[in-house]
Amino acid sequence: MSDYRVSIDRKNCIGDAICTALCDNFYMDSDGKASVRNEIVPESKSGENIEAEISCPVGIIKVRKTAH
Ligand code: SF4
Repeated sequence: MSDYRVSIDRKNCIGDAICTALCDNFYMDSDGKASVRNEIVPESKSGENIEAEISCPVGIIKVRKTAH
């Protein structure tokens, strides 16, 4: 089982909250931009995080296998 690293390029977030609707690993922070709850997620959670990655209209979510 692989782990996945989840990141957001927050400075370019437009705050539409699409990711938060698709995956509970994302939440809207007090500055109106999305944040990640867990930067490392197990493979079992990767699907919903990747769905958010694919759905972000400005393409700033990255979900990548960790190297180990
Ligand atoms: S889907 Fe992308 S632009 Fe929209 S809130 Fe999430 S990270 Fe920000």
